[in-house]
Amino acid sequence: MRTNPADLAVRVRGLRKEYGDLTAVAGIDLDIARGETFALLGPNGAGKSTTVEILEGYRHRTAGEVSVLGADPAHARLDWKARLGIVLQSTGESGQYSVREQLAHFARFYPNPRDVEDVIAAVGLEKQAKTRIGKLSGGQQRRVDVALAIVGRPELLFLDEPTTGFDPEARREFWKLIEQLKAEGTTILLTTHYLDEAARLGDRGGVIVGGRLVAVGHIDELGGAEARVPVVRWRDESGAPREERTQRPAELVVDLARRFGGEPRELEVIRPSLEDVYLGLVHAAGSKASAAELVEEGELA
Ligand code: ADP
Repeated sequence: MRTNPADLAVRVRGLRKEYGDLTAVAGIDLDIARGETFALLGPNGAGKSTTVEILEGYRHRTAGEVSVLGADPAHARLDWKARLGIVLQSTGESGQYSVREQLAHFARFYPNPRDVEDVIAAVGLEKQAKTRIGKLSGGQQRRVDVALAIVGRPELLFLDEPTTGFDPEARREFWKLIEQLKAEGTTILLTTHYLDEAARLGDRGGVIVGGRLVAVGHIDELGGAEARVPVVRWRDESGAPREERTQRPAELVVDLARRFGGEPRELEVIRPSLEDVYLGLVHAAGSKASAAELVEEGELA
């Protein structure tokens, strides 16, 4: 994808982060266009938080170029920070104040805040506006986190595991809120372990494994066409499970029906989900990484 650098919210080249001997981020290039929702995926320990915290200006990098909203986070000032919205994994709310008081307090830090009542309505906490934050349920407190992150009208919103611990209904409500922010043009960097969430909200996505971006692209095209070839499963005459990957599942099904003289048992046609594609990518990158390590150790040379 070629994008004018001025249209990029995030531009990263050759990003590295070492913690002593450990290389947490091993050379990442990443572009996120303005207005885009980018889903950063990867197993635990892959380097997602390190990358995101460098972009947020919370961590210093070892090497590489980073530009976020046109500034280097390592040297950016308070007015730059005011253009970001950050929803961290855990809530740090003391809970002394009511939802409305806390939001009104934070809104004053920003040059062009959203209307506090609008924000309360957007996160669905109208009934709890006067409730002390400490008395809210976990899911409601998470909404307060999001409310605090968006009250300053951020250009770029970081969402780190935003719906962990939500029940299915609360997640769907939350997704609607994020879709509303997307529609308003907010750029969003989402990290999540829920692949359905990434597929629903993400425009593009990237998979990090072992500090490297092993795949990046449109969320529906991650992993390439090969990873998305449909699978036809059925049981043969002896009851044994069979499966075949094919770009033309309908032809195979017709052929099977003819061969069986009727319905094949337990017939299904499956299109790999983002989760299937993701697991395939992580598995392939993991086995490549361990093969490379074994070569380095002289065991596979
Ligand atoms: P993720 O967010 O994908 O789970 P992290 O960025 O948290 O991954 O971690 C990447 C690697 O860096 C892991 O091996 C982790 O143990 C290590 N790491 C993270 N933070 C520190 C730190 N402050 N000091 C030393 N090692 C760290």
